[in-house]
Amino acid sequence: MSGERPGEFELIDMIRSLRGPRPSWLVQDIGDDCAVCEWPLPRRLLVTTDLLVEGVHFPSGRLHPGLIGRKSLLVNVSDIAAMGGTPLACFLGLALPADSSPQDFDSFMRGFLEEASRFGVVLAGGDLSRGDRLTVSVTVLGGVESGEPITRNGARPGDLLLLVGTVGASRHGLEQILSDPGLDLTEAADEASLRQQFADDPRLAGLLAHLLPTIHLEEARWLQGRGLAHAMLDISDGLAGDVGHICKAGGVTGVIDLRRLPLPPSAGCGEQARELALNGGEDYALAVAVSGEQWERIQLEYPAGFRRPVPVGRFIEGLPTVLIEDDAGTRPCPLRSFDHFKPGPR
Ligand code: ADP
Ligand code: MG
Repeated sequence: MSGERPGEFELIDMIRSLRGPRPSWLVQDIGDDCAVCEWPLPRRLLVTTDLLVEGVHFPSGRLHPGLIGRKSLLVNVSDIAAMGGTPLACFLGLALPADSSPQDFDSFMRGFLEEASRFGVVLAGGDLSRGDRLTVSVTVLGGVESGEPITRNGARPGDLLLLVGTVGASRHGLEQILSDPGLDLTEAADEASLRQQFADDPRLAGLLAHLLPTIHLEEARWLQGRGLAHAMLDISDGLAGDVGHICKAGGVTGVIDLRRLPLPPSAGCGEQARELALNGGEDYALAVAVSGEQWERIQLEYPAGFRRPVPVGRFIEGLPTVLIEDDAGTRPCPLRSFDHFKPGPR
């Protein structure tokens, strides 16, 4: 883009050309007042929206725009995964500061669209505006092919609590970024370049977990397709807080077994690592409630190559609260999960 700043319609043209061809079920594409879909999945439309605000969800001026684009898409796909759904289409609302460059816009869009195509999601529309700070609103539409989506409210006393993915590393990564203003994350736009830049750096795992979280979409779809979970969610606020959501929705008590909880390796093995694992946040691991029978079948039939679920606790009859247990006994879990409207850890 030489010289003059592109206008709104040039930006939309850029988006359209970067996105590539439309699937046949997208009858009316970017360019009209609405997208029109011949929805290809027979059951249950899933819709989710997440808002990411510069200075709140990511530090101002610290990250390559490609990383912001990627994460914006990933965290939304994670919500569809959390229901065992298949994401298909997305919509992107973007507020751009007046001084943002066409290069930054291009990097953001390339990152966003690369992740979208990796998960088979087509960008079908959106909106653009000028704004005081970069604000990204993503809506993803998805569905399930059969059966019901896995909601939060099905946990029963006697169920096991499974964890698919890691907890704590993302928060550790965020702390590395915030505590070191000299840490330069403006050069690497993707995982390969982050791996290269931080090849021998112990911070790599945390940075990757925070900037480019792994979304366990196939694992979740597999569980949903076979009806092998009573309740499921993706951990965005912190394991303990989110297990608390399952407890509240299902009217059960959750017990997290600290002896079984995988700790973020780079954060040591003491109290700090445990705190990160329990209350870190932005992990996007899956917390799943399954019966003993379901767990038997999962162990027998689980596909090789999928991230293996780890039993980290159980649900019992009682008040909707979260307990922790170890050799010292069972006690209430100290909860420090993130709340945008309360003073919190971030
Ligand atoms: P309207 O005036 O109806 O809001 P716009 O001029 O904002 O329409 O958008 C024109 C077309 O471009 C619409 O189809 C809209 O979905 C699409 N569009 C606008 N912004 C984006 C974006 N950020 N990503 C994808 N499509 C977009
Ligand atoms: Mg508009």
